[in-house]
Amino acid sequence: MPGWDGYPIRERFVARHAAPVWVDNDVNLLALGEWRSGIAVGHDNVVVVKIGTGIGAGIISNGKIHRGAQGAAGDVGHIQVDEGSVACRCGNVGCLEALAGGSALARGGEAAAVEGRSVRLRVALDQHGRVTAEDVARAASFGDPVAVELLTNAGHRVGRTLASVVNFFNPSLIVIGGGVAQSGDQLLASIRETIYRRSLPLATRDLLVKRSSLGALAGVIGASSMVTEQLFSRDAMARWLRVGGPTLAITPARRSAFRQLPSWGALAEKTARATHLPRSDELRMTTFSRLLTADTADDRRRASARTDAHHCGR
Ligand SMILES: [Zn+2]
Repeated sequence: MPGWDGYPIRERFVARHAAPVWVDNDVNLLALGEWRSGIAVGHDNVVVVKIGTGIGAGIISNGKIHRGAQGAAGDVGHIQVDEGSVACRCGNVGCLEALAGGSALARGGEAAAVEGRSVRLRVALDQHGRVTAEDVARAASFGDPVAVELLTNAGHRVGRTLASVVNFFNPSLIVIGGGVAQSGDQLLASIRETIYRRSLPLATRDLLVKRSSLGALAGVIGASSMVTEQLFSRDAMARWLRVGGPTLAITPARRSAFRQLPSWGALAEKTARATHLPRSDELRMTTFSRLLTADTADDRRRASARTDAHHCGR
């Protein structure tokens, strides 16, 4: 995520609250929320697509979140859909989200307002000094032809990409969520029509394409489901039942393991050298918290060798 790459999110919360912390990305949590408590209850193969500023998807495969080898599964926003020169924030050109995400809709809406092609978008521009994707969706719901065209084109692009996903993955349900998708029917209608038209008949025979039922709450509900799952997983319970609660209490075993290691200041220094990072408090805390929660020799080796924080559960 721009501006957050490599930031020790998990360690910051661990240091502040002395409690176990799990971190996951927004679309995985949206998917988990919809699957546990929303529109996707009862479906075991689901794709939850978030269309906001960017575009991403969370995947439930055979009743489990599918994250992929490096946690990058579902990054449909960066599938190339055009050979043109529209640059994406990922560094490539022609990515789906650069052409059909919220930023693209806002850009198209603002151009229409400046060029005088849409009265409603012109009003939005005059009132707020800019046009947002939500302005475009609102204008489309009032029948503004330029806004309808922008959303229809974006929906076709998203739909064509999702048709490939349907042919590849064969879900029983696709859920469309995110700020842009929530603010009107036009986009959903266009996506749905394209998916059914472009996917193979067998894959769409019982396929449903629905709007998120939890809206803005899906992520929070998904996060609480993830924490519950992690806390009560077999591995986590075996660990925290030994210390009497899901805390980061320093057990005698952990204390002795910690004493066998080089001083943590020296370790932080070694890690800093290996990773070319400054020897900040942040880094020391990262290393320290990893050592506190390390149960095995392997964990300790990893703790001293790595400082990356994008880590889901333990
Ligand atoms: Zn991209």
